[in-house]
Amino acid sequence: VVDKIAALPPGEPYHSLEFFPPKTSMGFQNLQARLERMAHALRPLFVNVTWGAGGSTATKSLQLAEICQRQLGLTTVLHLTCTNMSQVVLDETLETAKEIGIRNILALRGDPPRSGDYHDTPCDGTSNGVGNEFEYAIDLVRYIREKYGDYFCIGVAAYPEGHVEGACPEKQDPLFDLPFLVEKVKAGADFIMTQLFYDAEKYIWFERLLREEPSGVLSELPVIPGLMPIQSYSMLKRITKLSGASLPAGILRRLDDVKGDDEAVKQVGIDIVSEIIEGIKVANLSGPRGFHFYTLNLEKAVSFIIERTNLIPPPDEPVLEEIEGPVVNGAS
Ligand code: FAD
Repeated sequence: VVDKIAALPPGEPYHSLEFFPPKTSMGFQNLQARLERMAHALRPLFVNVTWGAGGSTATKSLQLAEICQRQLGLTTVLHLTCTNMSQVVLDETLETAKEIGIRNILALRGDPPRSGDYHDTPCDGTSNGVGNEFEYAIDLVRYIREKYGDYFCIGVAAYPEGHVEGACPEKQDPLFDLPFLVEKVKAGADFIMTQLFYDAEKYIWFERLLREEPSGVLSELPVIPGLMPIQSYSMLKRITKLSGASLPAGILRRLDDVKGDDEAVKQVGIDIVSEIIEGIKVANLSGPRGFHFYTLNLEKAVSFIIERTNLIPPPDEPVLEEIEGPVVNGAS
């Protein structure tokens, strides 16, 4: 991913698309057809495949990653979480990822399971002393670097409005997370992808905060803002609540005006997300300008937004990789 970003012509924006693994084989067939259409029409620089916390989607995530990477020839970022997950699954996943030609991992902590059998982080920021080798995402970044050297390009998550820590909601503060983000990068992360947001001003403030962070390790690293097209009013409300993303009053008003009409919500949503992108583009932030889309496996709204904001690369640029064969004894 970082090599592809570095190779872009100066000033050319890019985008990436995120998908989750369907539950059924019919779902896989439908998604594969959709992915082929979207890859062809939108030409993402890379695609992401999500991971169910605790390894709940391990097999299906790897199956989808293989379709993306090997069958469709798309540079694929496999998400991987580390807490509450068996080390056997972690090791097997990294080996399989290597075998199927994956070179990019988004190293995440994962959310605690709802059942409450996961330990909570005390609100004073100290460790609770539970002897878990993988307590935070940084532990996974270190582990991958130790075991695989530079083989994988590693991304990590960041939160423009602060991470919502279930145990301590009052802590949602980007300044609280910042030192830990710096540590993740020092441990070997190559790029940053952000949580979704709808307040462009808050995102712009956040990216500047990272660029000016005194250690300097964030000054040039790719930071890719995450955006979720608005599919419905109720879903937007649910997702912003879960993620702690704020809805600026102006945006809320526009959506409130049409909230009884699903089609109108989608249309206004396309306008809103497109305006956020344009706002970020003109903010004069440094470095190549990329945007990551949480597609929810849906095609229409994201396609409209990408077209409207001119994020499709010119047709003569080869964004599709050569399809790689299996890696045998380190040789592809
Ligand atoms: P961390 O970087 O470990 O941070 C978690 C929290 O702990 C933060 O509040 C941080 O400030 C704090 N912290 C970190 N280190 C310390 C320390 N030493 N002491 C005290 N506090 C500390 N989840 C999935 O299950 N599957 C996915 O596919 C997935 N994809 C995602 C993609 C993106 C782009 C993003 C932004 C999130 C994604 N998530 C996914 C959600 C993610 O797993 C959760 O947000 C999780 O709660 C935190 O993960 P993290 O990697 O940011 O954790």
